[in-house]
Amino acid sequence: MSRILSRRDFLRAAGAVGGSTAVFRAAAALGLLPAVAAARPQIAAIRKSRKVLILGAGISGLTAAYELHRKGYDVQVLEASFRAGGRNLTLRHGSRIDETGYPQVCEFDKDPDLFFNAGPARIPGHHQHLLEYCKELDVELAPFINDNRNAWVQDDAMFGGKPVRAREYLNDSRGFVAELMAKSIRKDDLTGPMSSADWEQLREYIRQFGELDPQFRYMGTSRSGLASHDYTRADVLKKPLSPSELMKSRFMFIMSFGETDDQAAMMMEPVGGMDRIVDGFMRQVGHLVQLESQVQKIRVKERGVDVTYRRNGEYVTTQADYVLNCIPVQLLAGVEHNFPKDFSTGLTAIPRGKLFKIGLQMKERFWEKEGIFGGISWTLQDIQQIWYPAHGIHRQKGVVLAAYTFDPRAGEKFARLSPPERIRLAVEQGSKIHPDYGKYVENGVTIAWHQMNHMLGCAAQWEPELFQRWFTTLQKPVGSHYLIGDQVSYHPGWQEGAIASAHHAIADIDARERLGNAVTA
Ligand SMILES: Cc1cc2nc3c(=O)[nH]c(=O)nc-3n(C[C@H](O)[C@H](O)[C@H](O)COP(=O)(O)OP(=O)(O)OC[C@H]3O[C@@H](n4cnc5c(N)ncnc54)[C@H](O)[C@@H]3O)c2cc1C
Repeated sequence: MSRILSRRDFLRAAGAVGGSTAVFRAAAALGLLPAVAAARPQIAAIRKSRKVLILGAGISGLTAAYELHRKGYDVQVLEASFRAGGRNLTLRHGSRIDETGYPQVCEFDKDPDLFFNAGPARIPGHHQHLLEYCKELDVELAPFINDNRNAWVQDDAMFGGKPVRAREYLNDSRGFVAELMAKSIRKDDLTGPMSSADWEQLREYIRQFGELDPQFRYMGTSRSGLASHDYTRADVLKKPLSPSELMKSRFMFIMSFGETDDQAAMMMEPVGGMDRIVDGFMRQVGHLVQLESQVQKIRVKERGVDVTYRRNGEYVTTQADYVLNCIPVQLLAGVEHNFPKDFSTGLTAIPRGKLFKIGLQMKERFWEKEGIFGGISWTLQDIQQIWYPAHGIHRQKGVVLAAYTFDPRAGEKFARLSPPERIRLAVEQGSKIHPDYGKYVENGVTIAWHQMNHMLGCAAQWEPELFQRWFTTLQKPVGSHYLIGDQVSYHPGWQEGAIASAHHAIADIDARERLGNAVTA
């Protein structure tokens, strides 16, 4: 008799195979959680004069400015950099890269297709608020190709370092694992009684999972690609890759990369570059944004907040009823302030990521001759990834992402090099995937985010114990000063998290205004 799973069993099982995201999804499917993000706060129009200072023109700051300005708040945004957008940065002909020690100017050709998203590049289909803003702000979107089974997987540990197609790597691995499973599990080993029908069903599931033959052997699959696509002849399967070589691979994570919550199709990108979103906000609130105004001092008072900033060498102090602040906490810790001890300790407690990216203008779209139209090749070398543009297909040139490192050691290694040395290293490593890589490179840009001025890091690295200790402390307002940014959201490293933090703060301000205790700490 089949065992009937309770909801609790089911959630536990889902967690074991898919982590907390799977539990969340499963719980939502069972109707135990709302399936969508919180609705955008419906804030009331303001009747009294309320001055709001927003510190930092990151996506969260721009969201807050947009929402509060249209409800009648008197908004001013102070931004330290010469540009708005923060980590949302697209580089194209003439763009400045404000990296401390290594300032660069982008030398890509002046061509709308030749751009490089140095920060965010992709938007999952469930990042509902960001997508809503794109619609509202007239930001045209296009599908983004994230996972491409025709791209390459390269690991020095397997196949003598020769790259293999992702579809072969993934499906041959799956086939061999399925064969192993079919051969090793026995009905009696399973916990709980199983009917013969259930047992047969399970075996059939395993067979289809790996595309095994009737004897449960993995003999190859068209999922791994055909030996030839000459359709005047009968299909010939590729010979499966050697299982012992596949076993040497050390990066199984790509098995599920394209299936994770934030990386699975359908992904999107703004046509012409991610900073089209910043442009969209700036069309609405650009007149409120004061660039090159670096905040130097914050004093939270019993009523309101005083902020001192530096502009053109002058110090200016201004006061506000509310402050929403997306200055990265590791920099905010160095701004003079009178925050409570616990809060200020929290500012220094959260480490930041060290992402590093390179974009190369290629004089020929050589990857298209390899049957690659967008997506990612993976390697375990320092560069970690090569991305191919899915826009501008069949045009002459394209900009390739030639390095995108999550590994902090690789990020630091690149960061220590000068931009030409970084490019040389990326080309050397990329040549293991594309042998003639170097001959196509015309010029490039490099960005070490932990060295970028006014940023000095990427997403907040919320380890569970740090989260437990500091998240609420930092998310809670200090008087009428609110910390915002993806750094105080449940989704750091994503623009949707930055937007959620702004919504959280403005909903609180709205509630205070409705209660009439507006500016009292
Ligand atoms: C390499 C990389 C890849 C990413 N990929 C994606 C992706 O694919 N999709 C996605 O949605 N998200 C992605 N993200 C994350 C996304 O960029 C962030 O979540 C989002 O942009 C953060 O916005 P924010 O409002 O928190 O502020 P930030 O972008 O952190 O902006 C903070 C602002 O504060 C300003 N500032 C600093 N000091 C001062 C001061 N003293 N005075 C005044 N202003 C100051 C800074 O100049 C900056 O403008 C990526 C980020 C990086 C770096």
